[in-house]
Amino acid sequence: MAHAGTQVLPEQTLESTARAALEREPRPAPQRAPFGPLRVVHAFWLAGMSCDGCTIAVSGATAPGVEGLLTGTIPGLPKVLLHHPVLSVEAGEEFVHNFRLAEEGKLGAPFVVIFEGSVPDERLAAESGGYWAALGVEERDGVRRPIPTAEWLQRLAPRAAAVIAIGTCATWGGIPAAIGNPTGAMGVMDFLGKDYRSALGLPVINIPGCSPVGDNFTETVAAILLFLQGLGPLPEFDELGRPAWLFSQTVHQQCVRGGYYEEGSFAERYGDKECLVEVGCWGPVVQCNITSRGAINHLGGCMNVGGICIGCTMPGFPDRFTPFYQTPPGAVLSTKPAKLTGTFVRPLRRLSMRFQNREVHWDDVGAVPTGWGHVKEPSPLERVLHALYDWWRFRTAERPGRTRPEEQYPDGYEVPAVARARREGRS
Ligand code: SF4
Repeated sequence: MAHAGTQVLPEQTLESTARAALEREPRPAPQRAPFGPLRVVHAFWLAGMSCDGCTIAVSGATAPGVEGLLTGTIPGLPKVLLHHPVLSVEAGEEFVHNFRLAEEGKLGAPFVVIFEGSVPDERLAAESGGYWAALGVEERDGVRRPIPTAEWLQRLAPRAAAVIAIGTCATWGGIPAAIGNPTGAMGVMDFLGKDYRSALGLPVINIPGCSPVGDNFTETVAAILLFLQGLGPLPEFDELGRPAWLFSQTVHQQCVRGGYYEEGSFAERYGDKECLVEVGCWGPVVQCNITSRGAINHLGGCMNVGGICIGCTMPGFPDRFTPFYQTPPGAVLSTKPAKLTGTFVRPLRRLSMRFQNREVHWDDVGAVPTGWGHVKEPSPLERVLHALYDWWRFRTAERPGRTRPEEQYPDGYEVPAVARARREGRS
């Protein structure tokens, strides 16, 4: 999948833009790309302290799918030439060759850098003559040594059109950077620093999640490519570099179990269908779209399949969400009012539901003609309550049907046949 670039057009622009970006003070992100039309864009995938879960998540993306990006079949988008340490068919020095060309500004096409996994502090490993994560080897001072991926990131970032951190390890540090942190792991943003800007003037783009929703990544890449083509605006990112349209809502705001929370019905154990907050769900404060988008192809996704939210998209993950599987302190407060109102609201809703489950003329005949089971007729009190409900419903509107004298048929045909027969004493 990795090939040398063939497009020469934007290299000089990229060079000068990169130089300018490094020399200038941090500046607002551009609203218009200097490139386009482009035939190809290179994507250099680097892995730090990673489990490869992000790669797997992206390989399952469907909107758009990786295949469309790599084959250049998505209208308006250039073909993405992916240089991935696991997926590329090239190996060894042949694989590393394009990284070197990119570093030296000889690639002949724009490129983006994608970093998966957290960035380790290689100085710690070097103290004992080792390394944490590396890609390729080079000779220095007569000694061949592995090139840490952190070093590749440092070398490539200034010339990259964009640096994209994928997954919570790369965005915020994630599990490798949890308290204790023996490798000195950190996110790409921490590693490159606040003042980092890409050749296009962009700070690091962050797509968190452990693992992230693959579509969140491919959709963001597609939006950036459209921008590079000059066919679209720069996508909107929030103050932490997350695609704003994907991460502005909480899990809870889109959760399939939100209705249970609102009615004050809470699961007591895993496998229950109700809201999971009391068994440890942090959804109300976590920015993520997994419940609406699903894990892969709109299927799966934590709460959709019975799991709690442990905040894996958030910078505070994991330390600020521990101990896992215990009711978050904030939920103790917020579930009480829901339980209180639910005590009244639930029975009233069930009552309405019973009436809404009845065809109107079943009230006329006083029976439900189902052979599947016995449907209990409403009690007199329930009829009174429902009559009040109906009165409220139509207090500002006209009731349906031929209610006015001038609208009615002289022979009463508007009355259903069974009710008419009963009224006329024929049944
Ligand atoms: Fe909110 Fe979690 Fe309950 Fe879903 S399961 S409604 S995200 S608290």
